[in-house]
Amino acid sequence: MIIIMKPSATGSEIDLVVQKLKEKGFGIHLSQGVERTVIGAIGDKSLLQLETIGMLPGVSEIVPISRPFKLVSREFKAEDTVVKISPQLAIGAKQKIAIIAGPCSVEGKAEILEAAIVVKQAGAVALRGGAFKPRSSPYSFQGLGEEGLKYLAEARKQTGLPVVTELLDTRDINLLAKYADVIQIGARNMQNFELLKEVGKLKKPVLLKRGLSATIEELLMSAEYILSEGNSNVILCERGIRTFETYTRNTLDLNAIPLIKKLSHLPVIVDPSHGTGEWDLVMAMSKAALAAGADGLMLEVHPRPDEAMSDGAQSLKPETFAQLIKELRAVAVAVGREL
Ligand code: PEP
Ligand code: MN
Repeated sequence: MIIIMKPSATGSEIDLVVQKLKEKGFGIHLSQGVERTVIGAIGDKSLLQLETIGMLPGVSEIVPISRPFKLVSREFKAEDTVVKISPQLAIGAKQKIAIIAGPCSVEGKAEILEAAIVVKQAGAVALRGGAFKPRSSPYSFQGLGEEGLKYLAEARKQTGLPVVTELLDTRDINLLAKYADVIQIGARNMQNFELLKEVGKLKKPVLLKRGLSATIEELLMSAEYILSEGNSNVILCERGIRTFETYTRNTLDLNAIPLIKKLSHLPVIVDPSHGTGEWDLVMAMSKAALAAGADGLMLEVHPRPDEAMSDGAQSLKPETFAQLIKELRAVAVAVGREL
């Protein structure tokens, strides 16, 4: 449930409500909005006489949250969340649309530097690249590990682009957090609950990708794991789901954008590269994603896609990416956003 405090409620009135709820074993999550404070209380309501809380000074209203996800819900927090990634970059609400771009994998120092420079020149605001790769086959390239993270940090130093990179294993969390600006949790790990709990204990932004066969409710429940540990810097990513269609790698579910925005305050971005699996479908689906209200895009771009060690078929060439950004600016304007 949430306890909505009156706009005039004082700090000590808020503290008293929090104390009473804690005494009954409730987990407390405070949301201090511009106009009012909302206290999210998660626990066993049967242990509490709601009227006693309703009568405390400063309390305006007690509202039950009917959905299984609580902290990520719009009921808990009406305003859009803005996730700050660097002093120059924030994602969500009316912030500029963010384009995160780079190769699927970090393949070497020269390659990632080259990719970082070209995506920055074209207008990307963050660099993506996997150092730990979740591959369907154990015989495929598994990523460069820490060496790859170091190259990403070097690329950030040279271009100023914040780095988004995937965490596969709880054992690597401190190592990865040392280098990454945003920790990516990939589709295959969306329901790795131990991993979610661990990234929830950090303050670092998390990019949570939708699982291959996950419902939107399951995606939101996974985000709830992260928020319930104290980290509300979560960006959700629609990256396509498995359907009966085989002509595309996945079916990009654009419904997810307006639907998640209705259900949750968290920012939503779209990955049309994994969502389609084919570079020549990425342009159209990127535009569609922005038109549907996405707060950003994550795109695979490779200086030479035919030489890529993973996902070359869905990677854009630098020139195509630069052209796409130009076309996306017009779509952004049409939906009242900037890029
Ligand atoms: C990726 O972004 O590199 C990736 C592996 O994507 P996904 O987890 O969506 O398959
Ligand atoms: Mn990829």
